[in-house]
Amino acid sequence: MTLTLDEVRDAIVARENPTLTMAEVELHATTVHRILELKQQHGVVILGHNYMEPLVYGLSEKIEQGDSLGLSRSAAETEAEFIIFNGVRFMAETAKILSPEKRVLIADREAGCSLADNFGATEVRQIRAAHPGVPVMIYVNSYAEAKAECDVCCTSANAAHIAMALPGDELIFVPDLFFAQNLEEELQGHKRVIYPGQGNGGHGAVCEVHEQFTLDDIRAVRNGFDIPPGHPTRRLYVHWECRPEVLREADFYGSTTQISNDIAQHVAAGSLERAFIASECELTSNLMEEFPTVQFWTACSVRCSHMARITLEKILPILEAIDAGDDLQQWEVDLPPKVIEAAAAPIQRMMELSAAS
Ligand code: SF4
Repeated sequence: MTLTLDEVRDAIVARENPTLTMAEVELHATTVHRILELKQQHGVVILGHNYMEPLVYGLSEKIEQGDSLGLSRSAAETEAEFIIFNGVRFMAETAKILSPEKRVLIADREAGCSLADNFGATEVRQIRAAHPGVPVMIYVNSYAEAKAECDVCCTSANAAHIAMALPGDELIFVPDLFFAQNLEEELQGHKRVIYPGQGNGGHGAVCEVHEQFTLDDIRAVRNGFDIPPGHPTRRLYVHWECRPEVLREADFYGSTTQISNDIAQHVAAGSLERAFIASECELTSNLMEEFPTVQFWTACSVRCSHMARITLEKILPILEAIDAGDDLQQWEVDLPPKVIEAAAAPIQRMMELSAAS
């Protein structure tokens, strides 16, 4: 049953997201209503990454929300012909690789990523040539052409496990330098991690969002928001893409999903009253809605400019074009079949090695 405009407005208000003002709800309710109406009418799946702003995130059902790999798996499982991926381009590409027969659409194909944009297939080939015979593991935050040159993919949640499952006592990890250093610390004494910038000619890349958090910032948050280390009900969370010294200061570090799960577990146990998350600010905005009993601080200057390109105003025209039977080329993720095939192999290997745990 299609909701009326008033019902859509009421549903947004009922979410009680503290970052959504009444003015914002009024301004955008009509667009949200039209998007949801067309979504339902045409059976479109709208996947929402948890760094989307709350009104965009709310276009997705709970099962359509999550992190990049989880969403791509959802894309592979759906029967829908059209998938709108509200995230950045490398994520939509991963969905396409896992569902080549489906039409994967993204509201702005220029939505990039400082990791994926700064390390491509050429850089992978260079570092591989410098270390012949060493397996190459690539973070899923990369484009299909770069994945296609690698042996296995990983996420921030499964990197250490996948690395340990690879043959030999060393591996190449690309492209995230902080991620590589964090992995190096975790695998110390077990595996050698080779990464760009160690005199092997490569320069690597960092996440322009997570690199913003410094040790001084994190200590200032601990003092200002009164989250002492080891406090029983106050926790400081740090994303795995942050600097190693920032990770060491955390009460908990991990992927977006691991952080969300840890919050959920502590909320269920009644042991979380206050939290700060060193990550993209809209993640906190969405968690505020999901866990209203927790007092969150958010740093909304720390916004991913690439994620911010995905707006309600850019999503609606896709659905209107589907409705009108118009050409979808400007939004469609289109990869050559050879690239899809080559990039699918390292993703598949990651899934096999993850399942073997
Ligand atoms: S938050 Fe960082 S890793 Fe994620 S899309 Fe933005 S730049 Fe890339």
